[in-house]
Amino acid sequence: MTLSPAAPTAPALPRTAFASLPLSPETLENLRQLAYLDMTPIQAAALPPALAGQDLIAQAQTGSGKTAAFALALLARLNPRWFAVQALVLCPTRELADQVSAEIRRLARAQDNIKVVTLCGGVPLRGQRATLENGAHIVVGTPGRVMDHLARATLTLEGLNTLVLDEADRMLDMGFLDDIRTVVKQAPAQRQTLLFSATYPDGIAALAQQFMRAPQRISVEATAEQVTIEQAFVEITPPQRLDAVATLLRHFRPASTLAFCNTKQQCKDLEAFLQAQGFSALALHGELEQRERDQVLAQFANGSCSVLVATDVASRGLDIAQLEAVINVHITPDPEVHVHRVGRTGRAGASGRAISLATLNDMGRVGAIEVYQKFSSVWLPLNSLTPASDQPLLPPMRTLLMLGGRKEKIRPGDVLGALTNEEGGAAFTREQIGKIQVTDFCTFIAVARELAASACAKLNAGRVKGRAVKVRVL
Ligand code: AMP
Repeated sequence: MTLSPAAPTAPALPRTAFASLPLSPETLENLRQLAYLDMTPIQAAALPPALAGQDLIAQAQTGSGKTAAFALALLARLNPRWFAVQALVLCPTRELADQVSAEIRRLARAQDNIKVVTLCGGVPLRGQRATLENGAHIVVGTPGRVMDHLARATLTLEGLNTLVLDEADRMLDMGFLDDIRTVVKQAPAQRQTLLFSATYPDGIAALAQQFMRAPQRISVEATAEQVTIEQAFVEITPPQRLDAVATLLRHFRPASTLAFCNTKQQCKDLEAFLQAQGFSALALHGELEQRERDQVLAQFANGSCSVLVATDVASRGLDIAQLEAVINVHITPDPEVHVHRVGRTGRAGASGRAISLATLNDMGRVGAIEVYQKFSSVWLPLNSLTPASDQPLLPPMRTLLMLGGRKEKIRPGDVLGALTNEEGGAAFTREQIGKIQVTDFCTFIAVARELAASACAKLNAGRVKGRAVKVRVL
């Protein structure tokens, strides 16, 4: 388009304004309400071609705003009046699938009744089948479970417009390639495919070759807000290991720590040890039931637990914005895994700290990490680490567990209302209440630690959405 000099011209919109995109006024208003003021770099690069229907390979990390980059594109093409699965997002883990579904729901608020269904393993197929029968516009799930539904014909992809492969590199690492192939075979050839990946290994190029049409490649330079991660090693003898973790926590007093062990048993041992020492620590490992896993993650994410002890597999897809420290309780034999672990702290412009405990037997592993990272390690003597305070390190919040969730149409505002009203005793202020996370069947409510018992009593005595509720402190 050319403008004649006489034409009245509106001031040009910055390239990062959402209003520069072909989005509906309702969507733009919703973005404003969500306080998404400007596009993030990945959104500015991906959204124009994605909205134009291009296939894309986008290199982006969690935290970059990548979910909105594909979600806005798939929502723009969606017809809410047509009850068919029009978009499918494949994710490596249930945690990521839950986060993606939540973000899509937030962004879809502007449109009529868009149904987003999450399909992951670990829960009975039957309930998911019933949900699918009620009609779904968007499915977010892990490849294995999506494949199961396709095999049972409880899900069909005939109406699919948009296929998203999120964290494709992780899906390949986790051995999902064959499952992805099986799923993609059932999708119409005429579709848009958007692939997001933090790294671009050969496997991704091969995947793109098979499944995509003339994809455009996008990668965004790390922003100026480079994160700083202070990395150090501490030499220990094997019997000092558990004590050394407690020493590190007392010395640095991080508000949130992810402590990595190599095995389930090591996780359990450390969890028990730290709890006995008065720390608020919880372990995340493969033996937990889904329900227990959800409880652990909710408590860590909302500031009710200071130390999460996990294996690499259990921590996959975990997205915790404010992780102050990573402790490698056991050094991993794989330098690449080490870098992944360390990179979990210092997200989103904040600084972070990563400390690794190493015995003499671990020195070969440390050497491999130095070579891989191209720097020599900083060592802190164990006896230089002294407690920074005589107060115990406690998290600021506690979690209340309320029975009833999305299935009962509970929203965070309903719980907030029940806590901040004047009925039946003192009202709480918004500032005393933290994250309110509604899941399918229950709701996790973070409240200031010292108020947990009184907030629990107020909810049990009052009503949420007009109904009496059962709440307990976790
Ligand atoms: P993601 O990388 O998709 O996990 O997004 C990271 C976080 O950034 C999420 O909490 C989003 O809600 C948020 N976010 C995404 N896009 C924007 C934006 N343009 N402005 C502000 N926040 C955003």
